[in-house]
Amino acid sequence: MQKSLLSQQYTDGDCTVRAVPLRTLTTLRLGGVASVITPNHEAALVECLTRIGREGARYHILGNGSNTLATDDPLETPVLHTKRLNNVSFCGNLIEVSAGCMLPRLIRQAAEENLGGIEYLASVPGTIGGAICMNAGRGERSGVSINERVISVRLFDGKRIRTFSRQQLNSSYRWTVFRDHPEFCILSAKLRLDSIPREEVLKRVASRLERTRKLEDHSGPNAGSVFRVKKQFASLAGRSVGNARFSALTPNWILSTGASSRELVDLIEKVGSLDELEWSVWQS
Ligand SMILES: Cc1cc2nc3c(=O)[nH]c(=O)nc-3n(C[C@H](O)[C@H](O)[C@H](O)COP(=O)(O)OP(=O)(O)OC[C@H]3O[C@@H](n4cnc5c(N)ncnc54)[C@H](O)[C@@H]3O)c2cc1C
Repeated sequence: MQKSLLSQQYTDGDCTVRAVPLRTLTTLRLGGVASVITPNHEAALVECLTRIGREGARYHILGNGSNTLATDDPLETPVLHTKRLNNVSFCGNLIEVSAGCMLPRLIRQAAEENLGGIEYLASVPGTIGGAICMNAGRGERSGVSINERVISVRLFDGKRIRTFSRQQLNSSYRWTVFRDHPEFCILSAKLRLDSIPREEVLKRVASRLERTRKLEDHSGPNAGSVFRVKKQFASLAGRSVGNARFSALTPNWILSTGASSRELVDLIEKVGSLDELEWSVWQS
């Protein structure tokens, strides 16, 4: 698999393929070496996915790795990295955005068009593809999340390109159809934002960043909130396995200060299960 994709790199130059330690591509700073394929544009991504699918193999899709826990062992499954797919275009209140566009960048570009309404994501170090997959948003009680802004999503389903409406995403708290179908790859999305003056959007961004600076524990690598199900989070503060520990400052937040992926998994399994995570877990 890796060989045939590598040879493709040298024939058409539309992707780069490298053996990369995933710890360099995830915010938890965890993950063993994987074959990471980085397409230069959407057609190259679809071509790679089609080839891998034809060979009957699986693949992982990686955005900015801010919600992913990967094993420290070498991964057999190739990883498609969307970071070069970052086109953004505007038409009135509608935005068409490619999967790899980072959320802070999207919010700032929207502000320049006097559009806003998703400033609560300004502190989220993820891509729009990752955000739609995880239905990123504010806490569960607020009920506010990115997928309420979605008009449609273009995706590759392993065989062909399709367009899903917002309803077809089956969104709930940090869950969507994409988590049930890891072969579905978001290519781009159409969102509707609100007309808001640029200065007001930027004010909201600054206020969000100020708030998260106070409330989020950045004293070590992390991947944001851990569990998508309710637990007695206050009672977990300070619990640890090796160098993985629950933050005493931010509830439902694990810091991995030099921990192994095994230590993280052991800590999670002490208080819950991997099925209860917001995060995606890649074990092979
Ligand atoms: C400091 C910090 C703060 C955070 N704050 C928040 C917050 O306030 N709210 C919140 O909801 N989350 C938060 N998160 C979690 C995370 O940043 C978000 O869920 C983010 O949207 C994930 O995007 P990503 O590109 O990093 O996803 P990745 O970690 O790269 O991927 C996550 C999942 O999405 C899938 N995926 C990625 N791209 C695609 C694609 N194109 N098509 C199909 N599937 C895809 C992956 O396969 C994986 O299953 C935070 C994380 C950190 C580290």
